[in-house]
Amino acid sequence: MVTSSRALQAVKLPASITVKELAHQLKANPIEVIKQLMRRGIMANVNQTVDYATAAKVAASFGYDVIKDTSRETTSAKKFHFREKEGEVRQLRYPVVTVMGHVDHGKTTLLDVIRHTNVTASEAGSITQHIGAYQVKIDGRKITFIDTPGHEAFTAMRAHGAKVTDIAVVVVAADDGVMPQTIEAIDHAHAAGVPIVVALNKIDKPNANPERVKQQLAEYNILIEEWGGDTICVPLSAKKGEGVSELLDNILILADILELKADPSIPAAGTIIEANLDKEKGAVATVLVQNGTLKIGDIVVAGETWGKTKALFNDKGKRIKQAELSMPAEILGLKGVPRAGDPFKVITTEREARALAEKVHAQRHQMFSPSGGTFSLDKVSTQIHHGEVIELNIVLKADTQGSIEPIKKSLERLDVGNTRVNLIHIGSGSITESDVLLATTSKGIVVGFNTHPTPGAHRMAELNQVDIRYYDVIYELVGDIEKALSGMLEPTYKDVIDGYAEVRAIFPSGKRTKVVGIYITEGKISRNCGVRILRQNQIVHESGVSSLKRFKDDVAEVLAGFECGVGVTGFNDFHMGDIIEFHHMEKE
Ligand code: GDP
Repeated sequence: MVTSSRALQAVKLPASITVKELAHQLKANPIEVIKQLMRRGIMANVNQTVDYATAAKVAASFGYDVIKDTSRETTSAKKFHFREKEGEVRQLRYPVVTVMGHVDHGKTTLLDVIRHTNVTASEAGSITQHIGAYQVKIDGRKITFIDTPGHEAFTAMRAHGAKVTDIAVVVVAADDGVMPQTIEAIDHAHAAGVPIVVALNKIDKPNANPERVKQQLAEYNILIEEWGGDTICVPLSAKKGEGVSELLDNILILADILELKADPSIPAAGTIIEANLDKEKGAVATVLVQNGTLKIGDIVVAGETWGKTKALFNDKGKRIKQAELSMPAEILGLKGVPRAGDPFKVITTEREARALAEKVHAQRHQMFSPSGGTFSLDKVSTQIHHGEVIELNIVLKADTQGSIEPIKKSLERLDVGNTRVNLIHIGSGSITESDVLLATTSKGIVVGFNTHPTPGAHRMAELNQVDIRYYDVIYELVGDIEKALSGMLEPTYKDVIDGYAEVRAIFPSGKRTKVVGIYITEGKISRNCGVRILRQNQIVHESGVSSLKRFKDDVAEVLAGFECGVGVTGFNDFHMGDIIEFHHMEKE
């Protein structure tokens, strides 16, 4: 037998290592390392830390022989658990799971079936309680499920800085296959660095085609175990309850691999899952305890409010004395209603708690502070210029599937110096709130080709100060991104929306430009504005205002809440209910 004389290169790796350092050790491009991590369901940036097991797998894929460096263990471990203090006890905690996927693929059905798993007869009557999250028990272990299906809630919480989910279950109906929201769910999970378990649902249906779904998933880089990848995929029928316990078992296996840890002995900290004002009970908030133990009497700060924990209830509405790690609990006693995604933590004194809550309040109400989260292409360009980032995260939306491919290819081909484009989500259709949220949480931008944001997405982009770039020529789109990557993007003009109006009356007219009756729903419009006519979120015409009248008089501007007549240059084909967007260009 001939054995290879070429010895494998050896590399020593510590218990944990940053992606940047790992790339350095492997003499590899950080992007390649990130890609290898992504194939393992881990989305990490260069400054994030991975554990030894993960780093070793990546090193092996680069052809290295891996040796564990125990001499560096203590310091690296400290770095990894940066909040770990002297005497802290880290204990395994139960996983927290979010269920995502395309509409009608069975998310709600699955969450309902799971909620009824392992319910004892005495509890059966009390489980109608909805507190935004629940726990199920499997062989003495537990799994916490966030009870709001869909990636919008998941990403909205992330947009507030909360990392709640450990594992994302992506439900795909075996008869329908991978659909746009399936891809969104996958991309949102990747962007959050959360591993995915695929729930291949509706296998009871006669037209179910699980093999086709596996094939489709592979096309989106989700390679399931059966096909040599490392994504767990469980076929099931939520409706018949078949395969559900296998899904739960597999979630626990993945949780074992993830080794989720926290310290039950310290004062509690976690995230608000949902909150509302109850007429009788006052502010009611569902919290997820992510570290420590929450007890009755604890003084808590949650976002910009605070209070003393008067009572605690579990997900079955039962009074409890304390809420443990990974446990969702309803808390009474807060002075105000926090937002979903707000962090909460226990503070020693009421004075400190009040001061902290007031500080958060002040920060939040300091509108558009210059140090805020603005993230624009120009800014990235400057950061790249200064060597601060090596990747530009982009959410790409185009009018049709056909225009996506050439843009995607051109962007992926761009490689300027060491910087590249990371397409975190690609889709066709309007730019939605979900796209803006994804860009916000990933510190990226949205690029629209021949498409447009929905009014909600536009508002959200303004609020979160996310850059949306619009193009109608591929060459210009790619050119701008290339310039940004080389850190040389010139200041640009941005599109500022002045207001929206709805077409409420169409008058018969001759050959001349038609004047239609509109109602201003938002903002302030003027004669100098540019206009876009939107019909079912598609732009049907784009030009300027040719006339603006109130009661036959020409006027310069009209405010929201008023009706007026408007003529649009070169356009007569109005439909009732058309939305008119008024805008102008402004230098950034
Ligand atoms: P969601 O929009 O993803 O929350 O989907 P739902 O849970 O509301 O389910 C949509 C439809 O699919 C409902 O009519 C369910 O009864 C049905 N459904 C869900 N799971 C299954 C399944 O495993 N088999 C079959 N045949 N139907 C299912």
